[in-house]
Amino acid sequence: MKTALVTGITGQDGSYLAELLLAKRYRVVGMTRRTSTDVHERIRHLIDDIEFVSGDLLDQASITAIVERVRPNEIYNLAAQSFVPTSWDQPVLTGEFTALGVTRVLEAIRAVDPSIRFYQASSSEMFGKVHESPQCETTPFYPRSPYGVAKVYGHWITVNYRESYGLYACSGILFNHESPRRGKEFVTRKITDGVARIKLGLAQELRLGNLDAKRDWGFAGDYVEAMWLMLQQERADDYVVATGETHSVREFVRAAFEAAGIEDFERYVVTDPAFVRPAEVDLLVGDASKARRALGWEPHVGFNELVEMMVNADLKRLQSARV
Ligand code: NDP
Ligand code: GDP
Repeated sequence: MKTALVTGITGQDGSYLAELLLAKRYRVVGMTRRTSTDVHERIRHLIDDIEFVSGDLLDQASITAIVERVRPNEIYNLAAQSFVPTSWDQPVLTGEFTALGVTRVLEAIRAVDPSIRFYQASSSEMFGKVHESPQCETTPFYPRSPYGVAKVYGHWITVNYRESYGLYACSGILFNHESPRRGKEFVTRKITDGVARIKLGLAQELRLGNLDAKRDWGFAGDYVEAMWLMLQQERADDYVVATGETHSVREFVRAAFEAAGIEDFERYVVTDPAFVRPAEVDLLVGDASKARRALGWEPHVGFNELVEMMVNADLKRLQSARV
């Protein structure tokens, strides 16, 4: 039985990855930080199957002690301050979690057992002001937020520890991936939650920022499979994971309203400067041909199916909260 240590297990990706690893009969150990409120909503259904250990990406001693005690075969580093706008409000903290946190986990591996396989959750936000389209593993980075900058550090420190110390360390450059478990501050979930509220008469409008930004949106459940595949190869490497399709925020809004049976979506959408960013990533579209070829990975859920899945889940959740 293999053991996997997952940081960020309470997040969107942590919940899908835990499901995948448990189905593959792993012993799954999740690192959580101490909070005074319950943050286990996304993994409530797995709570008896996961072992929890308390640690924080800010605290080297806690991470090293956990790795020493758990002795994992694989570590998936999903924990991060992951929301772009917050990274302008808290740039130093974002650097501590999202950038230096990666070094702390790698240092723990080096100190305890350099044979542990490591996955780093890198991001298409690293491409930022894109140099070419579609973006692939060799596309230069030009991050546009403190979050993107921190992720570039996390990517290169992963590559550097692989090259310096021979660690099996992979960086997965994942494009935006969504699900009914996505945080409500991210645009897709904000839209599907907002549309469901309007449909049920609980809200009258949906306030958004830049509707012209384009993203390559996939389904989180498909993307965690790529994470696992990266750690099962003969050699560690870096991979772009994306659908290869791009859509604007406006297209997402339209599709979400349509999924709820509302045609005249423009009546409800209000552009609010509060949600416009100081620097924007205008267009992301990934070329995942390396992952398709080397890992045999492919996405299964398409754009419209994803939007419908999220709208239906929010409608169901809000309806059952009302009865
Ligand atoms: P979420 O925001 O849903 O989850 C983030 C997780 O990190 C939570 O479990 C959170 O714990 C944990 N965390 C944050 N800070 C710390 C800390 N200091 N110590 C320990 N744990 C901490 O993110 P996702 O699941 O969507 O994303 C997973 C990873 O993939 C992130 O690194 C993200 O940046 C990256 N990524 C995501 C993409 C996406 O589209 N979803 C695209 C590309 C990369 P808590 O519950 O306590 O807050
Ligand atoms: P990101 O790609 O990691 O920043 O994911 P988000 O879901 O937060 O944002 C995706 C895109 O949607 C960005 O270009 C945002 O500028 C745009 N956007 C437009 N309106 C909003 C909004 O109200 N909230 C968020 N989060 N993003 C918005």
